[in-house]
Amino acid sequence: MTQSIKDKIQLLRKELRKHNHTYYVLDTTSISDFDFDKKLEDLQLLEQSYPEFFDANSPTQRVGGDITKNFKTVVHKNRMYSLDNSYSKEDLLDWEKRLQKNTGVEKLTYTCELKYDGASINLSYKNGKLQNAVTRGDGFQGDDVSANIKTIKSIPLVLDDGFVSNFEIRGEIILPLDGFHKMNEERIENGEEAYRNPRNTASGSLKLQDSGEVAKRPLDCLLYHVVGDSLPFSTHMEALNSARKAGFKVPVEMKECNSIDEVFEYIEFWGEKRNDLPYETDGIVVKVNKLHFQDELGYTAKSPRWAIAYKFKAAQQSTILNEITYQVGRTGAITPVANLAPVLLAGTIVKRASLHNATQIQKLDIRINDTVFVEKGGEIIPKVVRVDFAKRSEDSIPTNYISHCPDCQTLLVREEGDAKHYCPNQFGCPTQITGRIQHYISRKALDIDGLGAESVTLLCKEGLISNYADLYDLRTAQIIPLERMAEKSAKNMIAGIEKSKEIPFEKVLFGLGIRFVGETVAKKLAKHFKSMRSLMAATYEELILVDEIGERIAQSIVEFSNDLGTILLIDRLTAYGVQLEVSETSLRGKTEKLTGNIFVVSGVFEIMSRNELKKSIEDNGGKFSSSLSKKTNYIIAGANMGPSKRTKAEDLGIDIISEADYINLIQ
Ligand code: AMP
Ligand code: ZN
Repeated sequence: MTQSIKDKIQLLRKELRKHNHTYYVLDTTSISDFDFDKKLEDLQLLEQSYPEFFDANSPTQRVGGDITKNFKTVVHKNRMYSLDNSYSKEDLLDWEKRLQKNTGVEKLTYTCELKYDGASINLSYKNGKLQNAVTRGDGFQGDDVSANIKTIKSIPLVLDDGFVSNFEIRGEIILPLDGFHKMNEERIENGEEAYRNPRNTASGSLKLQDSGEVAKRPLDCLLYHVVGDSLPFSTHMEALNSARKAGFKVPVEMKECNSIDEVFEYIEFWGEKRNDLPYETDGIVVKVNKLHFQDELGYTAKSPRWAIAYKFKAAQQSTILNEITYQVGRTGAITPVANLAPVLLAGTIVKRASLHNATQIQKLDIRINDTVFVEKGGEIIPKVVRVDFAKRSEDSIPTNYISHCPDCQTLLVREEGDAKHYCPNQFGCPTQITGRIQHYISRKALDIDGLGAESVTLLCKEGLISNYADLYDLRTAQIIPLERMAEKSAKNMIAGIEKSKEIPFEKVLFGLGIRFVGETVAKKLAKHFKSMRSLMAATYEELILVDEIGERIAQSIVEFSNDLGTILLIDRLTAYGVQLEVSETSLRGKTEKLTGNIFVVSGVFEIMSRNELKKSIEDNGGKFSSSLSKKTNYIIAGANMGPSKRTKAEDLGIDIISEADYINLIQ
């Protein structure tokens, strides 16, 4: 019986590993999402019932959830060096001369790889299983970030036979551009500042304490170096090809070059083409291909002699700054924008560039009519990096940052520690008004069908609405006469607005557009306070006591709640019947009786199914966990509870209770 369960578990793990590899490494699919989830769920259930077969490298462990307060320092078995840089063909020819002298060989072969722009990582495997993942740190020792790394699905946790069994492999943790843009869209929607560039976001992600949060980020890992004693490879190329076959994501763009001229061709080609890659690169890495030459050449104090990075120049162009305009965001944040004479930069025509904030403009002394250099570096939007002072005309005047909102002429404020200016006129500033209503109707908020962002702009312009409560007063007769509106679309709009009264409180709360209250925070707050009334009555001190609510969020909620305008708006929304509290049905059967307790379930039960137990634990405020640990409070034991789980629970001093005991607990 147990043997067949064990086989079943192992088979499922193997299957899921294969599908993960196909999807995340090979970029194709071998199973539908639905079937994949189903198999994963089957595996989860089996692992919960038979904890004796627990495996830290099971595909179920990829969802994260472990919290690391302090990352363990680990000394690298093999030092992680940096790379020497080169910037020109001459530099590379000099490097080749040194190689020829040191090896006594005239004709060397090389590999060229792209230099992936992220954070370096060392993965150690023992007997084909991932042991740990450690950051580069100072090169001698780094941080053990294994819990976070395991959530990156393209990294194999277990290798099937056929590759070296004990080795280290090094690579770069990157955040592909697509995923990066999506993350930023969400942040902007939540009124948060966008992340600056993928590299910093990737390396920041590695140090997050909550691996569940890391799991949500679309990180990836590109590998470039296999390290180990007596590896069965004779060239770098062979080692990496073999690693790719074993399941690692080794980019196929790498190339073997038989001469330095071929290296130049590679550089030439990718200098342009890199703009089409789905991730960012900041250069090329050239390596001596034969491993015995690598050994012979060895290392300097800081880097290998057998490798060199060729750095791309960040694409830069000079152009004229015609005008500085100021944009007002939904939350009132002001962003200065450089309007440029159009210029071709890294394959795209650039007309606008970011100027960040007032300090930046002052620091670089940027003025209208200046000739400025724009650069497309790590950042998404090109930025102005420098003024060509030689070309500045004598009558040029220093830039005065605006003091008043370009939209509503209100005096701007700048809070301490904040780089940005804000327009404080929340309720009178047209852009903020429109932006806030557009946010309110958006998909993740009240999801109003029949009403789009453009119609909101139109309705605002026509003076029919000036806040989200006004939506509920709209009549078809007012809408029909508007441009591009017909009876049918007007009716749809009204019906959509009416229907939004059914949207649950947590989404409404998100839709209100309170600064720093994004989707997740809104959910937390709704769960904790249960109604808008009690949320608005909460003090700053009460707010920061709530799990994951920090000072910034608490402060923002207090300000929102004390604003007379908001109070009136919320009153109106309540009167219209918008859901401003958690609904009866979703509260039914829910208590807080188990708050603060972590439960593990094992065995077979009589009254409830395992899933019902899980739901019941969560409905009563408890936490359901699939593995036993010191933090577990109770284990609910059913028939056939695994003996090893029982021993472990006893060793840890965890309360072992029956199904009946559990039911007593919640009644
Ligand atoms: P640097 O940080 O400028 O000294 O550059 C060295 C770093 O480049 C290494 O630590 C790696 O993290 C990174 N890197 C990116 N792509 C590669 C690659 N293909 N080969 C070697 N190192 C790479
Ligand atoms: Zn304004």
